[in-house]
Amino acid sequence: MFSKSDIVDILQARGDPQKQLFQSARDIRREYFGDKALLRGVVEITSMCKVDCDYCPMASTNRKLARYKMSPDLLLAIAQDMKNEGLDRILIQGGEIRQTTELVASVLPQIKEMGFYVLLNLGNKGRAEYEELKDKGADGYLIKLAFAILTIVKQCK
Ligand code: SF4
Repeated sequence: MFSKSDIVDILQARGDPQKQLFQSARDIRREYFGDKALLRGVVEITSMCKVDCDYCPMASTNRKLARYKMSPDLLLAIAQDMKNEGLDRILIQGGEIRQTTELVASVLPQIKEMGFYVLLNLGNKGRAEYEELKDKGADGYLIKLAFAILTIVKQCK
């Protein structure tokens, strides 16, 4: 378990400590995946987001960005295209809005039937939504820690 100061040290590592950190990351990657490259198809299902991260073009206050939300049918069609191209891993991601749970859950079983390993990145949701997506077939979910890490760094400065 890392303390806040451990995390700050890791984020600020330079020179030899940074090289050691990168070497540790490579060792862990080799342990789990070897030296092969894994291809993953990425589909961005919405540019809408209720959050306002200051580093992100999809931030809610960016009035210049065109906003869209994909239909379930289009998501399925893109997944099928990816399958036809030989991909077997898919990352479905989008901004943080409530509607993505229903959108993705409605087609996840069909995407799983195509033989995909499914990773999701749809922002923070409630436990019931994570469970619904898992029940429908999601294999993994990227939890966004950037805000938490930035907050820790700011608090420790
Ligand atoms: S939650 Fe994600 S998509 Fe939304 S503004 Fe932050 S980084 Fe961008």
